[in-house]
Amino acid sequence: MINVAETCVGTRALGDGLRSVVWVQGCPFHCRGCIAPQWIPFRPARRVEPAALAAELLADPRVTGLTLSGGEPMEQASGLAAMVRAARAERELSVICFTGHRLAELSGRPGAAGLLAELDVLIDGRYVRSRDDDRGLRGSDNQRVHHLTGRLAGSAAALEAGPRGAELRMRGDGTALLVGVPPRALADGLGALAKETA
Ligand code: SF4
Repeated sequence: MINVAETCVGTRALGDGLRSVVWVQGCPFHCRGCIAPQWIPFRPARRVEPAALAAELLADPRVTGLTLSGGEPMEQASGLAAMVRAARAERELSVICFTGHRLAELSGRPGAAGLLAELDVLIDGRYVRSRDDDRGLRGSDNQRVHHLTGRLAGSAAALEAGPRGAELRMRGDGTALLVGVPPRALADGLGALAKETA
């Protein structure tokens, strides 16, 4: 079972083409300025079987990629690897994954090799607000974009340094979900708004 914080089917804000995203619940890192602090605590959220999550993420037939984020995907590496395998049994897909770990630190970590084997791109390292240069899909310039296959080689420049984008999705309960790595001005504005309304 995968402990899922949130999903989004069909976005252009988190990588090449039209993608679906899963954010997992729970992260051992507490990066200052994390855009998703509500997904840091290790607590039960929505528990979903890998095959059911794959079906959910592929609900839009136009989706050509998955993005795994969080929270910390490597905390649930085996379940996510099973989900990607189930999704790829249905459709050819590219897969991008964020992690706060460095790639070199993942050696020997339970489940990590299995998930890494399914990834096309790993964006690694913790978010460092003072090094957020407002470029690319990585949140700050200490993070690295690793192409583990050549599938997304054509998007290398955009992933590394392209313009950022973000989408606001309305949930059924009237709350909004921010999808993407937002430009700093937007993140700062939303942070200020959140403080005002708290
Ligand atoms: S690793 Fe990512 S999810 Fe975890 S605290 Fe840092 S920015 Fe947030």
